[in-house]
Amino acid sequence: MKNRRRERLGWVVGLVVLTVIVALVRACGQRGRGPVEEWVETPVQTFVTPSLVTQAPGVPTPTPTFRPTEQAATPADEDFDRSLTDSEEMRARRDALVRRQVMPMVSDERVIAAMQAVPRHCFVPTSYLDQAYNDHPLPIGYGQTISQPSLVAMMTEMLDLQAGERVLEIGTGSGYQAAILREITDQVYTIEIIPQLAGTARRILDTLGYGDIHTLRGDGYYGWWEYAPFDAIIVTAAPDHVPAPLVAQLSPNGGRMVIPVGPPGGYQSLWLIERHGEDVTMQRLFSVMFVPFTRE
Ligand code: SAH
Repeated sequence: MKNRRRERLGWVVGLVVLTVIVALVRACGQRGRGPVEEWVETPVQTFVTPSLVTQAPGVPTPTPTFRPTEQAATPADEDFDRSLTDSEEMRARRDALVRRQVMPMVSDERVIAAMQAVPRHCFVPTSYLDQAYNDHPLPIGYGQTISQPSLVAMMTEMLDLQAGERVLEIGTGSGYQAAILREITDQVYTIEIIPQLAGTARRILDTLGYGDIHTLRGDGYYGWWEYAPFDAIIVTAAPDHVPAPLVAQLSPNGGRMVIPVGPPGGYQSLWLIERHGEDVTMQRLFSVMFVPFTRE
């Protein structure tokens, strides 16, 4: 009799202990899951870089809904107005341009080598072939221009781009600046708003062996969220303010952005922006004149 009572008491005590253990384990589990649930419930602003939000395993990446779906307009053969072969004569003109206009302005060896390597004449309409190695901007259609070579070199040097770093360009235009960047790093991303220019640039880049440059037809104001953060961002059209999404997509570990800011049609200021954590510093470099930054 006594033995059976003791046995029953043993069972009851065992059950109570088990219940307490289960309750404790549950409470710990809840605590562990807390931040994940909070992360899921918090609406994520689309321009916040992945590095700035807590990465929770298994939580799907939010997809921006405003991403334009329109693609680049790939030019037909008969509309494709570029000469894509290099020659001794073009190389000699390029060398002279680098020696006279680029080397006095920049000292970074990699930038100088890039300017020597990329055949600028392939990026301009054939009617401007003979001017391709003069140090001034040239029309590329749709009211846009390929930038002045010495300015391309200076802006590239300001980025202080290292091999393997990820760089975003806003304003692909002809594709020339993107090719210069690709000579320095293999992580080049570039966005162009005008479909025809985006398509022509894509075709030139593919033909010249720059097929691994990532191109996008879209409004660069929003940056390229999917590939952020970027070690460097270069903007080659002039907005009247610094787009917040671009600052947000700049690497918090010393990201650099070179951007002209000012009124359309006049002189703008070229700025060097640097980001360390949430600290963003801006330094005015010099005056420039770029085509306007347009929006869709
Ligand atoms: N980096 C270019 C310069 C092109 S001129 C080159 O090497 O040739 C600037 C370009 O910026 C133009 O082609 C213009 O269409 C483009 N642009 C203007 N606003 C833009 C925007 N919001 N997003 C992307 N591209 C834009």
